[in-house]
Amino acid sequence: MNKPAQAVDHHSVMFITQRPELVMAEGRGSWLTDNNGKRYLDFLQGWAVNCLGHSNQGMIDALNAQAKKLINPSPAFYNEPMIRLSNLLTDNSCFNKVFFANSGAEANEGAIKLARKWGQLNKSGAFEIITFDHSFHGRTLATMSASGKPGWDTMFAPQVPGFPKADLNDLDSVKKLVTDKTVAVMLEPVQGEGGVIPANKAFMQSLRQFTKENNLLLIVDEVQAGCGRTGKLFAYQHFDIEPDIMTLGKGIGGGVPLAALLATDAVACFVPGDQGGTYNGNPLMTAVGISVIDQLLAPGFLDSVRKKGELLSKELQSISTEFNLAGERGEGLLRALILSSDIGPKLVELARERSPEGLLINSPRPNLLRFMPALNVSEDEIHQMCNILRELLKKIH
Ligand SMILES: *Cc1c(COP(=O)(O)O)cnc(C)c1O
Repeated sequence: MNKPAQAVDHHSVMFITQRPELVMAEGRGSWLTDNNGKRYLDFLQGWAVNCLGHSNQGMIDALNAQAKKLINPSPAFYNEPMIRLSNLLTDNSCFNKVFFANSGAEANEGAIKLARKWGQLNKSGAFEIITFDHSFHGRTLATMSASGKPGWDTMFAPQVPGFPKADLNDLDSVKKLVTDKTVAVMLEPVQGEGGVIPANKAFMQSLRQFTKENNLLLIVDEVQAGCGRTGKLFAYQHFDIEPDIMTLGKGIGGGVPLAALLATDAVACFVPGDQGGTYNGNPLMTAVGISVIDQLLAPGFLDSVRKKGELLSKELQSISTEFNLAGERGEGLLRALILSSDIGPKLVELARERSPEGLLINSPRPNLLRFMPALNVSEDEIHQMCNILRELLKKIH
């Protein structure tokens, strides 16, 4: 730590967002190390991506073994890991068919295409998909249009049409938008980027009943909330409902680019030419996905996620009381601390710059902090994180 900090020459990297002047070099478990040797307790984990932390041995072994065997036979052929991971996902969910993608946005594009295709075949070309204010579905044109982020409707105008917006947890706001052009309703079981806002069970159950009665598809975007994050393998399982389509991303690859579109037999209606992609279902990534899902399904693992989610929740509640904040919310290990003012971005910066060890958290809205640690984070690391938060809140008050 006595060495002068290395300057970062990043002039060739396209500017897309303000990044701190440091380079991440190594990761292990819940800890990241930068190029100056400084360590960070990582409660971001690649944006809820590294569900098993950094450098998970099972993932490394799966990646190495598959790299030596077969990297890409082309999407025109079946491969073994693609078949095994598909079976693993359908055996453990209400879905029957899986199409792999490379990012959450791409999986959601697939879901939108599948719903529109189903509408062409079954609902005289109905194509509108009701989505929700403050939702986030990705950064392609269609998924930006589906998202309810303020300002995104004009950012790259014109939008892809057909995504009227309802209010989460308000069935009447959905009913008002239904026309003979409506084919589906699409939502995140827990709005992630919107500020960790869970859909409630009564709403999800009545939405499922309403969509069924009106011959509409129900699509859950579990890119952030799926794969163990909420303490169940899939977030929809909290609601005792069966959606028609689900998308997965982030956690399913544990850090590698892997995503999936799942559908029931009744809905999986693509025909040759409708859907595909050069890297889709490649064995290198699906082999890693098998290792991830196997580890999530190991006896006791999801119980431990729920337990640690309760611990984090309890700790955040007491921090809220100690500092007169506005409470906490979330499901499992996807949680937010609601601040009483817009100090989120300042806290994120102070946490990162803290020495000797930094803390990585994020503030999707200026009045809250979001926590998405590795699902195998230790209880001790949760306590460490909370104590750093206390220290920073003292400093800022
Ligand atoms: C992150 C996210 C996406 C987009 O996933 P990418 O892999 O970044 O394309 C879509 N939906 C939700 C709910 C997300 O959190």
